[in-house]
Amino acid sequence: MNDIIPIQARNQISINALKVLSRLNRHGYQAYLVGGSVRDMILGRAPKDFDIATDAHPEDVKSLFKNSRLIGRRFRIVHVRFGREIIEVATFRAAWSENQREQSENGMLLADNIYGTLEEDVFRRDFSINALYYSPDTGDVIDLVGGVDDIKAKKIRLLGDPENRYREDPARMLRAIRFKSKLDFDIDRQAGEPMHQLGYLLQDLSTSRLFEEVQKLFMTGHALYAFNEMLSYDLFGWLFPDSRRAMDSTPAEKLIQVALKSTDQRIANELPVTPAFVYAAILWYPFVEEKKKLEAEGVSYAEATMEASAKTIARQQLFTSIPRRFTSVMREIWYLQFRLLVRRRRKPDALLAHKRFRAAYDFLLIREEVGEKLDNSGEWWTRYQEADAAQRQIMKQSGKPGRRRRRKHQGTVTSSL
Ligand code: ATP
Ligand code: MG
Repeated sequence: MNDIIPIQARNQISINALKVLSRLNRHGYQAYLVGGSVRDMILGRAPKDFDIATDAHPEDVKSLFKNSRLIGRRFRIVHVRFGREIIEVATFRAAWSENQREQSENGMLLADNIYGTLEEDVFRRDFSINALYYSPDTGDVIDLVGGVDDIKAKKIRLLGDPENRYREDPARMLRAIRFKSKLDFDIDRQAGEPMHQLGYLLQDLSTSRLFEEVQKLFMTGHALYAFNEMLSYDLFGWLFPDSRRAMDSTPAEKLIQVALKSTDQRIANELPVTPAFVYAAILWYPFVEEKKKLEAEGVSYAEATMEASAKTIARQQLFTSIPRRFTSVMREIWYLQFRLLVRRRRKPDALLAHKRFRAAYDFLLIREEVGEKLDNSGEWWTRYQEADAAQRQIMKQSGKPGRRRRRKHQGTVTSSL
């Protein structure tokens, strides 16, 4: 046993992963843990999930495990399921010779299913820190690319020629940022510099893959870090062009930062989070600008609100898909922003009972935090939620944050009761 992987991390290997490894071995196949789990264990962290690499072909793996299924188009891999845990088993794949490659005009790999040896499999992986193979049985870590040293030096180094590797799969640029944010590593200069020029390649990826990558960047507890990195590597604008543009004339950047920070904090506190809130924040100012434009053209307030939200979301979906279950929540959060400004009669109580009240209220606070002037509505709602029935009655009559902030024109507000 070597000591690259500390014992306490080794003890965290899922029993199901061990079962899959040993069954493959018993049938005469090579099988290793690979990728994130090995990297995380070397860092002494608990792995998130377990990927296995083997010389068994997908059909062979499938026939060994009745609880398994073949998935994937670009890569055919096998998912072996144990209750809620899925162990991903991938067959070693070969590096490419030029004439075998099936590539798009920009050099993107369209198919990648030529099987190979472990030695070949190493070089189709993205970063050295992800190209380590570990056999819990023997305790050996196979490191053909200096990945262990890079982990120790906290360095994200792309295997092969960076520009080619980004052209083959532009998502690797986002993956570099994901690992930097998650591990607090540095992206090495050779891997980092080309990103400034190659962001446009992200347009070649499917909108659904980009949605998935954004999920991994923004919904795993390091969103603020990842967002700032995406800006500094000039990638954000290729995924969210309208939002990037809005940053030049609105507090969009700050609003996104505050929203992502609160998402990170909620994840740290194990509170529920939804991408709808994050997307609502990212697209808020594009939506507001669109709405203003429509109103200036004479479109009524209500129609402008609906049309602007539909347009903003549809434009974003040309870049990242957003599933309908999230777009409907985004719209609710946006619409409630206007309704939260009306604080009279029975309206506040209806809003308080609204399914999205909490998200909309949090959103309102964030808008105020970045300097939007909303007549202290956030404070009013904070107090309203804490108030008893009698106090609420008074607050509804004034429609103002409360005694401390009563204004001269109170009369005009109460007169509409
Ligand atoms: P995480 O802990 O976030 O799951 P991971 O390193 O396990 O990180 P996965 O996306 O689960 O990342 O991928 C598993 C492994 O497959 C990676 O470690 C890497 O070796 C390889 N891999 C995944 N995506 C790519 C890619 N786009 N290009 C090359 N290799 C990849
Ligand atoms: Mg993984």
